[in-house]
Amino acid sequence: MYVSIYNLVYLLFCIATMKTYIVWHTNPDTDAICSALVWEAFCRDRWEDATAVRLWEMNNETAYVLSRISEKKLQLVSELPEWSSIVLVDHNDPQQSIAHREKYTITHLIDHHAFGTFSTPSPLYVRVEPVGCTCTVMYHIFKEHNYTPSQETAYMMISAILSDTLHFRSPTTTDADKKACLELQSLANIKDLGSHAMAMFDAKSDLWDMSAHDIVQLDYKQYTFWNKVVAIGVMETTNPNYALQRKQELLSTMQQLTNEQSLDGLLFCIVDIINETNTCFVIDEQSQDIVRKAFDVSTVDNVADLWTRISRKKQLVPAITAVFW
Ligand code: MN
Ligand code: MN
Repeated sequence: MYVSIYNLVYLLFCIATMKTYIVWHTNPDTDAICSALVWEAFCRDRWEDATAVRLWEMNNETAYVLSRISEKKLQLVSELPEWSSIVLVDHNDPQQSIAHREKYTITHLIDHHAFGTFSTPSPLYVRVEPVGCTCTVMYHIFKEHNYTPSQETAYMMISAILSDTLHFRSPTTTDADKKACLELQSLANIKDLGSHAMAMFDAKSDLWDMSAHDIVQLDYKQYTFWNKVVAIGVMETTNPNYALQRKQELLSTMQQLTNEQSLDGLLFCIVDIINETNTCFVIDEQSQDIVRKAFDVSTVDNVADLWTRISRKKQLVPAITAVFW
């Protein structure tokens, strides 16, 4: 076979630039970012190439967590080189993923979310468990490989688990999440899980300088129910009054987002982490109708009391799915 020098150079260029990147979901939370960094550390120790990249900014809680360990230099990139391989962590839905995902080869998926519209042209390594956090899934993988995480890695894993499970208060919590935290605690050198969780939640609640636009999209996911697109923003906070006081501003931002993103519904949930309650803002008649049907509650002045339904994944999305079924 004849191979021109140009083809050879091009081939070598492709091989040299074909890196693997670890990709988390849009509007990332602490689990998304920490699980990417944890997987990067695991790969590095096994001489496998995989780099966590920052496609979006992080929230104050994650910034607090990372500030307590040696600085993580996360490359901020707008897009990845074409033909790159990617590892997906903490999500699988293309709507919550890197733009034009079909341009990349997904080699691994490590997650704890349900499958909706996930499909790939080629086989891949998939590890999904019905637990409260992607880092719990990774902890299980570590154990299977007899791999002991470093102090930093253990610290990131515990922080992610406490964040995703709201310190074991969320109904998504499983015994596996609690067990992972207990087993990692001495390694992570965290004396008291409760005070660490509280410090994280306080950091997350510190939103004094944030615009209403950013607050609504802080932890924001779009879902397609048949042909209807509904977005659910969640603000987990120790200080719900902060958002309640900015109600009018938040409602007009919600109207703007509904128009811009052609949404069929938008819910913004203010979850009080301490009292485990959910106050939900809804703007238009369509969204109010979804909330009334899904949760059998009334809406007063664009507000619905969703009581103790604090988990989007376990309590909100399944109920809304049933409305469109
Ligand atoms: Mn997440
Ligand atoms: Mn997660």
